Amino acid sequence: MQTFEQLGLSAALVKNLTQMGFVMPTPIQQKTIPFLIKEQKDLLAMAQTGTGKTAAFGLPLIELCDAQSSSTQALVLAPTRELCVQIMNDLVKFSQGVKNLNIVAVYGGASISDQIRQLKRGAQIVVATPGRLMDLMERKAVNIVNLKFAVLDEADEMLNMGFEEDIKTILKDTPAEKNVWLFSATMPAEIRRIASKYMNKPMELSVSKENFSNVNITHQFAVVAERERYAALKRIIDYNLDIFGLVFCRTKADTQSVAEKLIQDGYNADALHGDLSQQQRDKVMRSFRNKALQILVATDVAARGIDVDNITHVLHLNLPDEMEFYTHRSGRTARAGKLGTSIALVTMKEAFKIKQIEKSIQVKFERIKIPSGEEVCERKVLHLVHRLREVDTADDALQSMIPAVVEELKDLSKEEIITRFAYLEFNHLLDYYRGAPDLNQAEKREDFRPKRFEREDNFRSGDRERGDRGGDRSRHESASTGTKLFINLGKADGLDKGKLLGLVCDRSRIKKYSIGRIELKGVYSFLEVEPKAVDAVLKQLNGFDFKGRMIRIEVQGTEKRPAPRGR
Ligand code: ADP
Ligand code: MG
Repeated sequence: MQTFEQLGLSAALVKNLTQMGFVMPTPIQQKTIPFLIKEQKDLLAMAQTGTGKTAAFGLPLIELCDAQSSSTQALVLAPTRELCVQIMNDLVKFSQGVKNLNIVAVYGGASISDQIRQLKRGAQIVVATPGRLMDLMERKAVNIVNLKFAVLDEADEMLNMGFEEDIKTILKDTPAEKNVWLFSATMPAEIRRIASKYMNKPMELSVSKENFSNVNITHQFAVVAERERYAALKRIIDYNLDIFGLVFCRTKADTQSVAEKLIQDGYNADALHGDLSQQQRDKVMRSFRNKALQILVATDVAARGIDVDNITHVLHLNLPDEMEFYTHRSGRTARAGKLGTSIALVTMKEAFKIKQIEKSIQVKFERIKIPSGEEVCERKVLHLVHRLREVDTADDALQSMIPAVVEELKDLSKEEIITRFAYLEFNHLLDYYRGAPDLNQAEKREDFRPKRFEREDNFRSGDRERGDRGGDRSRHESASTGTKLFINLGKADGLDKGKLLGLVCDRSRIKKYSIGRIELKGVYSFLEVEPKAVDAVLKQLNGFDFKGRMIRIEVQGTEKRPAPRGR
């Protein structure tokens, strides 16, 4: 093992690295840094995510660029704007104190004229997304005739995202004698094709498979029913008190809706995906980095390569379609020597994928149980008790009020005070989890029953036998024998069927299966509710506020309504 100094980096850079807490180079840095500094050759480098690839190319770039010339000498292409910004920030930190070195990031979605202005001032290193760079090249705002180095970071992801043509176009306009350094977490055939076309006998450097899996990540999975994914996610979040987590969904739509549900449920969460504007994405990333957000819900593409410190948990609402993505996801935690946990929610049918991942990335998964409502509450309460014990009471400002407080509480016993205090803090949570169902699916496959048999027996027994509708939707769409209720909330209140269902069940603390068909209208809706749950619903909702409107809910009587359309 060599130190950064021994790898050939100048004292100024080594000093910056020390300040950043980089003591020893990572394995990929050990290999690439001396090679890139000494040899004027092309490079094909492969190392798992989180292994320090930015410094593996960034430090040599800074060493090799001539800061006294203002021409653009190095180009770093990366797939997303977040990565561009992150790489730029890393390079700026590495090069603190290097006089006249300018590093500019250009990416889509931000003002192109600002970027043109920054480029005009002269940038030796340009970090870019392919699309925006092409725009800038067309406008002659970036001049790469003197380019010496072209770096393709996250090359596999750039290909996945369809940037191959753009990369070709860009590379065609660069001088032939430049060097191309390609960095990738995987080496699929297309990468080799690109390499053979646009690179000149590249050196191949990779870190061996043993270094691949990050031993600091604990991999876990839980088996849940399809329709309980979200509920299970919430329990995991609730159970892990100090969670700072990243939740992965497969689609942009899921990402958005899970984030919205979490926000509605009172979590400090937000979404990151490609349908958001640049400004929105920046804002979300900023608050996540500052820990102002506790839970970020993201798509694979948007979160690729993101480096945020101290993420405690990566949660997979669904497993990714491609096994490789699992590594990219879980690699967001346990960065820079820290510990982290990756928890995947799978259905019985998907459980085999866990085996596949175990084989392909050589890690061992541990099966966990989704904590019960009781366990979650117990943990929260004990945590509060712990905080109560540890709290710093030295603040003078409060001291003067204490006698009055003591006076007010003097006829309560210690136990009563504790109980009241806990209730005050956890009323909502305890209510929510009271009688909450077990979300774990049975171990054995034989025990896995089709969804239509999993409902509460009492309400659904009527159409159970028919067995003609599996899946989640049936509970809102199949005929049933519930009591029909009118509620003065509808689409105009921003509700959809799911949200209305959630609202009614959460407030009245009844199970979702107590509700049958929902007809959602503009300013009102109808719900079919299991007779024995009707009282609770009326009592817990009537007269209460929903976003500034007073809820009115009543039994619809015998009045005949036209049957809903489409059935
Ligand atoms: P990759 O691009 O391979 O996914 P990054 O370059 O984003 O990885 O680095 C991952 C994390 O490790 C970053 O937080 C980075 O600051 C840190 N890091 C990189 N190299 C070192 C090192 N030599 N010592 C300590 N931390 C490092
Ligand atoms: Mg990277």
